[in-house]
Amino acid sequence: MRRERLFDLHPREVVDTDVMVIGGGIVGLATAYYLAKRGRRVAVLERSTFGFEASGRTAAGVRQQGRDLRELPLAMASVALWADLDDELQDQTYYRRSGNIFIAVSADEMAKFQAATEQERSAGLYVEMLDRDRLKHMVPSLSDRCLGGKHCPSDGMAEPWAVIRALVAAITRHGGRLYPNTEALDFVVQGDRVVSVLTDTIEFRPEVTVNAAGPWAALLATRVGVTLPIRPFPAQLIETEQVELRCDGFLVFPGEAVYCRPTISGCIHFGPISVLTPRDVMKSPSQLSPVAQVRTKIASLIPALGGVHIRRAWMGLLDVTPDTLPIIGPVPGLSNYIVAAGFSGHGFGLGPGVGSALSALIVDGRPSIPLQAFSLSRFASAQ
Ligand SMILES: Cc1cc2nc3c(=O)[nH]c(=O)nc-3n(C[C@H](O)[C@H](O)[C@H](O)COP(=O)(O)OP(=O)(O)OC[C@H]3O[C@@H](n4cnc5c(N)ncnc54)[C@H](O)[C@@H]3O)c2cc1C
Repeated sequence: MRRERLFDLHPREVVDTDVMVIGGGIVGLATAYYLAKRGRRVAVLERSTFGFEASGRTAAGVRQQGRDLRELPLAMASVALWADLDDELQDQTYYRRSGNIFIAVSADEMAKFQAATEQERSAGLYVEMLDRDRLKHMVPSLSDRCLGGKHCPSDGMAEPWAVIRALVAAITRHGGRLYPNTEALDFVVQGDRVVSVLTDTIEFRPEVTVNAAGPWAALLATRVGVTLPIRPFPAQLIETEQVELRCDGFLVFPGEAVYCRPTISGCIHFGPISVLTPRDVMKSPSQLSPVAQVRTKIASLIPALGGVHIRRAWMGLLDVTPDTLPIIGPVPGLSNYIVAAGFSGHGFGLGPGVGSALSALIVDGRPSIPLQAFSLSRFASAQ
């Protein structure tokens, strides 16, 4: 396909590479890391700084429970990789298996948790129900509104800034080339191959291109003639001053649509959970909640958070698909172009699993973790 390029200001330096990764969030960086480790020449383009978008603004939960069962095997494989990530990267990510607790405020929710427990256990994930006493013992700061919960002890969290830093250093150590503040602007496609990725000053000639551009993946894909059903959607996070909750776990209150977790520095991060259906998100992209409203909700569940000082709040963009599952893998019509986007708010925990699976797909011709559930073609067959 030859067409007018967006930007053709001056001659570009030509750089050959085995794999071009577009997007320096956790998904692109993890993919680049596992490829560089296997000796592939890899280049990562990030139009801002690494982790500047969702991957640096995330709540950083590494969660298996409460997943769509089609996503669970990938989440479990990823958790297995998280366990060794500090050794692997020779750095500290502050990953900890401090557990994840879904907390109920109604009997109806407890019944839903019970049903989910049975399903998840039959899928091979250990989860357990907590009655009110056990829950209170594990999380003493909860209010009496909390009736019980569902606990996944092998879930956990990490610190996003540390993970990004560790990945960047490890990629460099393995010879990968990183290009911050460098935007992929356009592509040259010949036949069924993407032969060039163009920035303002460089023409990369990769064997394989990976589109890991998060909410912008759909926009970039249009430049190679591919339509991705991905919409940006804002998600908020609020940070308190340091406060002692006597619980290290990640707490989710689905009935109240809020969650919280302690950071390694002793602050609490809490935020709203979107109650929009994916179909709503595809139609109307924005609904932010006032910070005071979210704080009132969380304080009704954890009274200690009612009076603490709020340091800051921010927003990051999720990349949401119609079924909230990611799109991972090749796309029809192009033989050397792979998408890894549409993580719909779950991409931080999945990052290492996706990176490892894609490096195996690119190097060995088959992914190390099955990816069929995430093919783009599922949307075509759904019509
Ligand atoms: C508030 C909040 C809370 C969250 N909580 C959790 C959680 O607890 N657990 C969990 O698993 N997930 C969570 N998520 C979701 C998770 O953070 C994301 O799914 C994940 O970070 C996505 O990573 P990514 O690498 O795919 O995309 P991103 O981090 O969005 O990275 C994409 C990158 O591509 C770059 N880019 C875009 N276009 C171009 C271009 N043309 N050229 C070069 N670079 C480009 C962008 O600058 C960006 O840095 C949360 C997200 C938010 C915002």
